[in-house]
Amino acid sequence: MIPGPVEVSPRVLSALGGPPPSHLAPDLIAAFGESLRRMRALWRAGEDSQPFLVAGGGTLAMEMAAVSSLAPGDAALVISSGYFSARFAEMLRRHGIGVRVVEAPVGEAPDLDRVVEALDGDGPFGALFATHVDTSTGVRVDPRPLAALARERGVLSVFDGVCATAAEPFEMEAWGADVYLTGSQKALGLPPGLALMVVSPRALEASAALPSPRPPLYLDWQAWLPIMKAYEEGRPSYFSTPATSLIPALAASLGEILDEGLEERWAAHARAARALGAAWDVLGLERVPVRPEITASTLSALYFPAGVDASLLARIRERGVIVAGGLHEAIRERYFRIGHMGYAVTRPEMLLATVEAVAGALAAGGRRDATEEAIAAAAGELGRASPGGGSA
Ligand code: PMP
Repeated sequence: MIPGPVEVSPRVLSALGGPPPSHLAPDLIAAFGESLRRMRALWRAGEDSQPFLVAGGGTLAMEMAAVSSLAPGDAALVISSGYFSARFAEMLRRHGIGVRVVEAPVGEAPDLDRVVEALDGDGPFGALFATHVDTSTGVRVDPRPLAALARERGVLSVFDGVCATAAEPFEMEAWGADVYLTGSQKALGLPPGLALMVVSPRALEASAALPSPRPPLYLDWQAWLPIMKAYEEGRPSYFSTPATSLIPALAASLGEILDEGLEERWAAHARAARALGAAWDVLGLERVPVRPEITASTLSALYFPAGVDASLLARIRERGVIVAGGLHEAIRERYFRIGHMGYAVTRPEMLLATVEAVAGALAAGGRRDATEEAIAAAAGELGRASPGGGSA
């Protein structure tokens, strides 16, 4: 239950078996094309938007978005809510982009008034970058007003959805966002290895108009564009070998989410977060995000209670559940993180086992044993009777 890689579903696992397919095999081409079409549906993106699917991590997706939309000498506004937004700022600076950061205190979301001030006072900016859910803080930023503010000013908006895509509501076309990117190992429920993004027509036009020298070849949307078009049209093509073993699994995973219903998936994440949140309340675990409205559904970032330290993680692991330590520099030793995204949120038994392991580990560390109460609180939110016989 770390915030990625996450558990994968049986359907995805079975699609992962077998020898690596050729990138020119008809089945692979079909799965690739189908994946691109399903990405559009899952991103709620327009028919005229362009999905990109390349081998790499979430960081590669970020880098591709940064260097394919802006040229050295351009300016960018970074809305920072933690470790991964800071990474955006770093990669933009390295590319020679002037970076203005609007930063929120740890656990807070950036203030929209300050974003407006920066957009109107410190620009002009070519693009605005924000992290939908920052995995270091568990803070969720609302992309909708940011996309609208950017669009009103002719600025591109780029959102890192690595810890959000397919879990938190996102409406790319309706909200007017220009880039939404993710990696495969989070709420899409696959192993790591794929960088995915969907790009709006105007962002694609901006990339086509970038001056020479073009961005690094592997990171240039324009280098990949003919390949993506070929796959969607069912034609073989080659630029750089795709992660072929992951493509059939991606088609399966996106298919599974869309069959279940994207809105149902969003709701399942919200329900899981509510259930776990109820258990954390019983256990007295304070959240890093300071308000419920900005608390992500995809992970819990929890302060250690007084008298408890990082040795708690080993006691949780002894109880069969793996969770993650802190990541944000300012509070690294003071908190831990539990991922709840993808397949796991559809499995109440995994969520309840997590509560049991955390509660048991706290009790083994000398705190009052509230395991049954915590499980009952979570089970109640999940609409299930707790194993101990609590009410539904
Ligand atoms: N952005 C966010 C919000 C993330 O959580 C992560 C990974 N934890 C990344 C970017 C980077 O992804 P990767 O580790 O696959 O490069």
